[in-house]
Amino acid sequence: MTSVPYEEEPDDHWAQEVADTFQWRPGPGGQWVFEGTCPFCHHKMFRAISDAVLVDDLRAAPGAGTATLDILVSCNCRGEHAGCPEGKSGCGRYGGLKLEL
Ligand SMILES: [Zn+2]
Ligand SMILES: [Zn+2]
Repeated sequence: MTSVPYEEEPDDHWAQEVADTFQWRPGPGGQWVFEGTCPFCHHKMFRAISDAVLVDDLRAAPGAGTATLDILVSCNCRGEHAGCPEGKSGCGRYGGLKLEL
Protein backbone atom coordinates (compact mmCIF):
# COMPACT_ATOMS: atom_id res chain seq x y z
CA MET A 1 0.00 0.00 0.00
CA THR A 2 1.39 3.36 -0.91
CA SER A 3 0.63 6.41 1.11
CA VAL A 4 1.38 10.07 0.74
CA PRO A 5 4.57 11.41 2.36
CA TYR A 6 4.33 13.60 5.42
CA GLU A 7 4.38 17.29 4.70
CA GLU A 8 3.39 20.00 7.12
CA GLU A 9 1.27 22.29 5.06
CA PRO A 10 -1.63 24.62 5.79
CA ASP A 11 -4.46 23.93 3.39
CA ASP A 12 -7.69 25.92 3.34
CA HIS A 13 -9.36 23.61 0.89
CA TRP A 14 -8.51 20.66 3.12
CA ALA A 15 -9.95 22.49 6.14
CA GLN A 16 -13.15 23.28 4.26
CA GLU A 17 -13.62 19.66 3.34
CA VAL A 18 -13.06 18.64 6.95
CA ALA A 19 -15.69 21.15 8.05
CA ASP A 20 -18.15 19.79 5.48
CA THR A 21 -17.70 16.06 6.02
CA PHE A 22 -16.75 15.49 9.66
CA GLN A 23 -19.25 14.60 12.37
CA TRP A 24 -19.43 15.39 16.06
CA ARG A 25 -19.83 12.66 18.59
CA PRO A 26 -19.62 12.69 22.37
CA GLY A 27 -16.27 11.43 23.58
CA PRO A 28 -14.94 10.26 26.94
CA GLY A 29 -14.21 12.62 29.81
CA GLY A 30 -16.58 15.40 28.83
CA GLN A 31 -15.09 15.84 25.41
CA TRP A 32 -16.59 16.25 22.02
CA VAL A 33 -14.90 14.53 19.16
CA PHE A 34 -15.02 15.85 15.64
CA GLU A 35 -14.15 12.92 13.44
CA GLY A 36 -14.03 11.77 9.88
CA THR A 37 -11.70 10.85 7.10
CA CYS A 38 -8.74 13.04 6.23
CA PRO A 39 -9.50 14.54 2.81
CA PHE A 40 -5.86 14.24 1.87
CA CYS A 41 -4.64 10.83 3.00
CA HIS A 42 -8.05 9.20 3.51
CA HIS A 43 -7.23 7.80 6.92
CA LYS A 44 -9.48 8.22 9.93
CA MET A 45 -8.65 11.21 12.08
CA PHE A 46 -10.29 13.28 14.77
CA ARG A 47 -10.09 16.45 16.80
CA ALA A 48 -11.20 16.32 20.44
CA ILE A 49 -12.44 19.43 22.18
CA SER A 50 -13.33 19.70 25.80
CA ASP A 51 -16.87 20.48 26.75
CA ALA A 52 -15.76 23.55 28.64
CA VAL A 53 -14.37 25.17 25.53
CA LEU A 54 -17.62 24.65 23.67
CA VAL A 55 -19.68 25.98 26.54
CA ASP A 56 -17.49 29.07 26.82
CA ASP A 57 -17.88 29.71 23.13
CA LEU A 58 -21.63 29.35 23.32
CA ARG A 59 -21.81 31.73 26.25
CA ALA A 60 -19.83 34.27 24.30
CA ALA A 61 -22.28 34.00 21.43
CA PRO A 62 -24.32 37.10 20.85
CA GLY A 63 -28.08 36.73 20.89
CA ALA A 64 -29.75 33.68 19.50
CA GLY A 65 -27.41 30.98 20.70
CA THR A 66 -25.43 30.37 17.57
CA ALA A 67 -21.71 30.61 17.85
CA THR A 68 -18.81 30.14 15.57
CA LEU A 69 -16.07 27.94 16.85
CA ASP A 70 -12.57 28.65 15.60
CA ILE A 71 -10.33 25.65 15.87
CA LEU A 72 -7.12 24.49 14.33
CA VAL A 73 -7.33 20.96 13.04
CA SER A 74 -4.46 18.85 11.87
CA CYS A 75 -4.41 15.34 10.51
CA ASN A 76 -3.62 12.89 13.30
CA CYS A 77 -4.37 9.65 11.53
CA ARG A 78 -2.56 6.48 12.47
CA GLY A 79 -1.51 5.80 8.92
CA GLU A 80 2.09 5.56 7.83
CA HIS A 81 3.49 8.66 6.23
CA ALA A 82 7.11 8.75 5.20
CA GLY A 83 9.02 11.56 6.89
CA CYS A 84 6.61 11.99 9.77
CA PRO A 85 8.61 13.43 12.71
CA GLU A 86 9.02 11.48 15.95
CA GLY A 87 6.09 11.92 18.26
CA LYS A 88 3.78 13.21 15.53
CA SER A 89 1.19 11.42 13.52
CA GLY A 90 -0.79 12.11 10.42
CA CYS A 91 0.06 13.37 6.97
CA GLY A 92 0.83 16.90 8.15
CA ARG A 93 -2.09 18.70 6.57
CA TYR A 94 -3.75 21.26 8.78
CA GLY A 95 -6.00 24.25 8.66
CA GLY A 96 -8.23 26.56 10.63
CA LEU A 97 -11.92 25.76 10.77
CA LYS A 98 -14.87 27.94 11.48
CA LEU A 99 -17.73 25.81 12.70
CA GLU A 100 -21.27 26.93 13.33
CA LEU A 101 -22.48 25.55 16.62
ZN1 LIG B 1 -2.91 9.44 6.94
ZN1 LIG C 1 -4.12 12.97 6.61
